[in-house]
Amino acid sequence: MPIITIYKCDHCGNTQTNTDDDMHYVGILVKDIHPCYARSPGHEQLWCSKCLIEVGIVNWKQPAATPPATPPTLEDMIIEIVDSAIENQE
Ligand SMILES: [Zn+2]
Repeated sequence: MPIITIYKCDHCGNTQTNTDDDMHYVGILVKDIHPCYARSPGHEQLWCSKCLIEVGIVNWKQPAATPPATPPTLEDMIIEIVDSAIENQE
């Protein structure tokens, strides 16, 4: 059984699942002239791509809206199991 994690955008409150892969950590990154970076752990937020584009942090092309995937019903799963069993008997 798959495990689905729901992520909530800290900016707009939109929720997405881990299968959407459309959430990004937003925070402050200090870049020195030396090849090292300093992050601000604990001050990061999780934002969706839509918010990053709206506030101008990134200039990505906004992905086209896709209808949410609906999980198979119990009836669909039973039919699939029966069909598979019938195919295996043949
Ligand atoms: Zn958002």
